[in-house]
Amino acid sequence: MNIQKTFTILCGVFFLWSNFIYDNPAVASLPLCGMFGKLPSSQKGKIMKKASKEHTPLRIALIGGTHGNERLGIEIVSHWSHAIPFETPHIIEPMIANQKAVDSGLRFIDYDLNRSFGKNSTPSGYEAERARELTEKISGNFDLVIDLHTTTSHMGFTIILPKTDPLSRRAALYLKTHFPDITIIESLRVDENSLFISALAPSGLLFEIGPVANNIVNTQLLLTLNTILTKLLTWDFGEINVPKSWYYYKIVDYLYYPKEGGPYYIHPEREGKDFVAVKHGDPLFIDLNGKTLVYEGEEFYPFFINEAAYRLSRIAMYTSKKMEGWKE
Ligand SMILES: [Zn+2]
Repeated sequence: MNIQKTFTILCGVFFLWSNFIYDNPAVASLPLCGMFGKLPSSQKGKIMKKASKEHTPLRIALIGGTHGNERLGIEIVSHWSHAIPFETPHIIEPMIANQKAVDSGLRFIDYDLNRSFGKNSTPSGYEAERARELTEKISGNFDLVIDLHTTTSHMGFTIILPKTDPLSRRAALYLKTHFPDITIIESLRVDENSLFISALAPSGLLFEIGPVANNIVNTQLLLTLNTILTKLLTWDFGEINVPKSWYYYKIVDYLYYPKEGGPYYIHPEREGKDFVAVKHGDPLFIDLNGKTLVYEGEEFYPFFINEAAYRLSRIAMYTSKKMEGWKE
């Protein structure tokens, strides 16, 4: 084989490879996010047809530090504040929501900022002031809010929807089709009843990523979040492949630690098993004498199990029901 022929073949191979990588940026980064695989063939379904032109370019508020001790979002926002590190059709404004809490390494200063928005909120102190400023800045000026959180619970990559509008749902489902291990949850209070900063624009996504301790950067989770956000923000929010069959979780309520006796702790058999159904008779709590309390009632799907931020309010976990996914 002469040199010219070898060169031609090599160029061809490189061309095919580069096109594959270009069309599959998630594949290119898969070694960085081992928990995700390619879309299984069973999830390939019909094309969701929605006009994207009306939404492109979107004005997107990318928010970190709504809780000052949740570092992944703070790292992304701080990094991207200098320059967005990819080509995007959208106008993206990274912002730190609660700088004072970030500087102190605290969830909040006076009141939980992510319960400080909307008509039903009753914020106080510094966060009441920040909520007013952020509402003025975001309402009417952005199409989509993406708010980045972490959790000490074993929730993996989770998107909580504070909105029921088509664009929010499409965006969450788009990411799920590319990263099937993402879990989608619909919030307890949605749309005008939401207390979240992510409900300030017509569309909103709240990311919960864990487990990671407060004030800690888990590098693998950070790299994967970077990959997921890049995938989302380089997309035109147009057509997507709707999986034939998929599920999301609808928040129902909170489950509190028992008031009587104890103190009780999450039973070791339940620890870390977010989104694994709790059935009648399952061990749920245990005290230091080894007394186990089993669950009595209808099956539910738990998450935020043993979340550090909910310890003081005695919430042991959230309860949810598994729902058939929407088709468009
Ligand atoms: Zn948070």
